[in-house]
Order: sequence, then C-alpha cells, then structure tokens
Amino acid sequence: MSSSETKIYKTQFVAGVPLFKEGSPGEEAYLIDKGRVAVSVLRDGKTIRLATLGAGEVVGEMALLDEGLRTATATAVTDTEVTVLTKPLVEKLLAESDPALRLLLQMILERFRHAQGKATENAAAPNARLQSAREQALGELALVRELSEAIDQNEFNLVYQPIFRLEDGTAAGFETLIRWNHPTDGVVSPLRFIAAAEHTGLIVPIGSWILRHAFESHRKFQEVGRANGGEDKPLFISINLSTRQLEDKNLVNAIAELVEATGVDPTSIKLEITESFLMADPDSARSILHELKGLGFSIAIDDFGTGYSSLSSLHSFPIHTLKIDQSFVATMNDNPLVKKIVTAIVWLARELEMDIVAEGIEEQRDVAALLELGCNYGQGFLVSKPLAFDDAVAFLQQNQGW
Ligand code: C2E
Ligand code: CA
Ligand code: CA
Repeated sequence: MSSSETKIYKTQFVAGVPLFKEGSPGEEAYLIDKGRVAVSVLRDGKTIRLATLGAGEVVGEMALLDEGLRTATATAVTDTEVTVLTKPLVEKLLAESDPALRLLLQMILERFRHAQGKATENAAAPNARLQSAREQALGELALVRELSEAIDQNEFNLVYQPIFRLEDGTAAGFETLIRWNHPTDGVVSPLRFIAAAEHTGLIVPIGSWILRHAFESHRKFQEVGRANGGEDKPLFISINLSTRQLEDKNLVNAIAELVEATGVDPTSIKLEITESFLMADPDSARSILHELKGLGFSIAIDDFGTGYSSLSSLHSFPIHTLKIDQSFVATMNDNPLVKKIVTAIVWLARELEMDIVAEGIEEQRDVAALLELGCNYGQGFLVSKPLAFDDAVAFLQQNQGW
C-alpha cells in the first residue's frame, strides 16, 4: 500500500458534476467542507432526490467498509469542496482499532444499508469477506470477554520451566509461563491470548496476578533450593513482562508494593522484556528499566535476535541477560550460517558482560555446541518442559545435573 493512498486530501467539484454515480464501484467517502451535494437514485428512468447534504456531512461512506456498488448518485449542487477519505486509509485506521469497535461499525453500516431499502445484492447477503471478518471479530470479542473474567474465575495458573547451567545440567532457576484453563476449551496457550490481553489492556491486571504468584512461588522454590544444599547459588526466577505492561505508569509502584507484600528478594528475579520495547521509545524504556534495576531486579532480553535491536545502543540499557531465541538453537546444528549468528550473539553478550540463556534446547548435541561457544545457561525440553508448581518442587529435589 503506497502512503499516498493512506493520506487525507481535499478536492473540489464544480456545481453539476457528480462525485460518484449509482452502480459504480466505490473506494472513497467524502466529508463535505463547503457547498452542497444532492444524493439521488434513478428509478424507472426518473431521478429521485433522496437528500441534500451540506458542510460537515459525509457522503459515500458505505463504499469504505464493504465491496457493494454505489447505491446512489452524489452530485455537487453548488461548487463544493470535500475531504477525501480513501478505503486504504480507513482500512488502516480500522486495522489499528479495537475489534469490538470494528465489528460495531460494520454492523451499523450494514443495518443502515438495509434500512435505506435499496440494498444491493451484496448488502442483502453480506459477502464472504465481511462474513469472515465478522466471525473473527465475534470470536475475538468472546475471547476478550472470557479473558476479562478469567482472573475472578480462577482460571489462570503458572507453570515453571527449569533454566539450567550448561556445564553441569543443574537447575539455576525457572521461567514462569502462564496457562489459561478455559472452562470449555481446556488449556489455552498464551500464544492464543497474550496478544488480545495486550491489545485490550487486560494484560495489566493479568500481569499483576502473574507477578504476585511468581513472587510467592519463587520464595518457596528458594527454600527448597536451600534445603537441597544450594546455599551458595540461590535460584533465580524469570518473569515475562509485556510491552503494554511496561508502558503502564503504575508498574514500578505496583511491583515495589508486591515486593513489600511478598517479602521476595528482587536481586534473584529477572524480568524478561522484548527488543521491540527497547526500540519503540528508547529514552523512556531506559528510564523504566533503570527504575526496576534500582529496586534490585535484573533485566533479560527475550527472543534475542528476532527483533530489531540497535546493536549500537544495546550497551546503553541496563541489561543483565540475553536469551537467544529458540529458532536459532533449533537450526544452528544444520545450518552453518545460523551457527555463525549464534556465535556472534554469544560473543556480543560476553563482550557486554551479559549472561546468556539459549532457549529451546531439545538435543544433547545442542548443549555441547553452545558450551563450546561460551554460552552459560540453557532452557528446553531436553531437561524439562514447563512444570506445574508441585512438579517443579519435585524436580528441584531430584535435580542432580548431567
Ligand atoms: P517465551 O517467553 O519465548 O517462552 C518460551 C516458550 O517456548 C514457551 O511457550 C515454552 O513452553 C516453549 N519452549 C520451552 N522449551 C522448548 C523447547 O525445547 N522446544 C520448543 N519448541 N518450545 C519450547 P509458551 O509457554 O507457549 O509461551 C509462549 C509465549 O507466550 C512466551 O514465549 C511468551 O512470549 C508468552 N508468555 C507466556 N507466559 C507469559 C506470561 O506470563 N506473561 C507474558 N507477558 N507473556 C507470556
Ligand atoms: Ca520468555
Ligand atoms: Ca523466549
């Protein structure tokens, strides 16, 4: 889509000139700035005037949301000036809008088209695209409604995936991952609902729920770790923070209060963020991360290598750990180019004195390869899938390493 198609521009129509004609395909709506526009239809050879519109009114808007042909003719009655709203522009705005709003607009327009009593075939039987867009929007709406009730209905739980030392296979900590036990659909993957939770802002209350539970579990894991002879190497816990959560003005305060309430030690907690959070607004990201660091937390960059970090500015953020994305780990043994990229990431992290966690380790040969490159931690199905709390405790009690 060219940017000119998504620009708003003005144009003029001299008195008597049509803006568009009944039966023609339509891609634009017009906001009347000056002048008057007559809307009419041709019936049995006669022109029937339906309305005359003036400044501040919109004409041709239905063409923007469905693929129906123009159901009327619009003609400038006087010299008229309009602002043109193109379909690509409106589609762009709609794509960025809330799904509920999108659905409402589509429904209102459709109903309006019917009410006019001149519905084209397209409008009478909504076309396939509109139908599938509607189903998608309805599905999203249902998801959002259910998601908004899931905390109160006690439907979330956390699972914990061990992060281990590559050299000896012993547990160094856990990453918390959320699961949603949907009343009818069973366990729903975060890949299905985190994006919707971000989009609607629901990630803020869900995120607080995650932090509180992760803090509480972490205290118990540390007790078990100590009891199992790990006094010198306290376990850490890694918690995912979404960008929307980090943008919440109250986040730092809320976290500080949770630290107080749960008595957890922040210096053993890593907060996982994404590259896109750093790059969207580097100055504010830097200041938020410094506040979190000030509370004692460490920061890890998740899925490193998949986003668009500016390498030149990486050192300017208080980053403690890089997590190498699992897509690299999965392919590096068979693809020498990927191996070179991993080598470079590990080198970079070491130069910047950061820890490195390789994600998605499924095979023993990955461990050897990563150790050789100088990577210190790993995570993946080879050692353990994410575990329910009790299983994670049992894992810690039995964990002997390689
Ligand atoms: P992520 O943070 O990159 O989490 C790692 C994902 O990789 C997890 O998927 C984990 O189950 C999976 N995984 C671990 N080891 C292996 C392996 O050896 N092979 C393969 N193929 N996969 C492995 P999961 O739990 O489905 O989470 C998906 C994503 O959802 C997470 O990716 C994260 O972006 C998001 N997410 C999960 N929990 C939370 C949360 O509590 N808060 C937020 N904001 N996002 C979360
Ligand atoms: Ca993560
Ligand atoms: Ca990851």
